[in-house]
Amino acid sequence: MSEGAKSVQELVRQRNQVLDKLARQQILDQYARIGKNNKPVICGLPGDEHRRVVFDTKEDAEAAVRAFRRMGSTRPQYIEVCPLSKRGHHHIVGRPPATTPQEPTKETADHRATNA
Ligand SMILES: [Zn+2]
Repeated sequence: MSEGAKSVQELVRQRNQVLDKLARQQILDQYARIGKNNKPVICGLPGDEHRRVVFDTKEDAEAAVRAFRRMGSTRPQYIEVCPLSKRGHHHIVGRPPATTPQEPTKETADHRATNA
């Protein structure tokens, strides 16, 4: 009985997570740098949890943050110039931009959708 109700709630929760993920992907598709595979370009090594979506300009990153806000995101989001990029691309990060250099990473296009 209660088990059935619980699984409905769980399904709704999962559905909302999927919708959130799709909405986030659409925002990234719109504002992030798009690679050859038509997916947002990711900065970082495969498997690195700190991999981040690349934005060509601060304006693009700011627009994406505004879009995330509109869909109800309340997470703190900061825009950082990537210390690893030669041409100065931007990332959205969940903490104030670091001043210390991070581990070397390389820019790679990703086949997976990001959930960063
Ligand atoms: Zn970067």
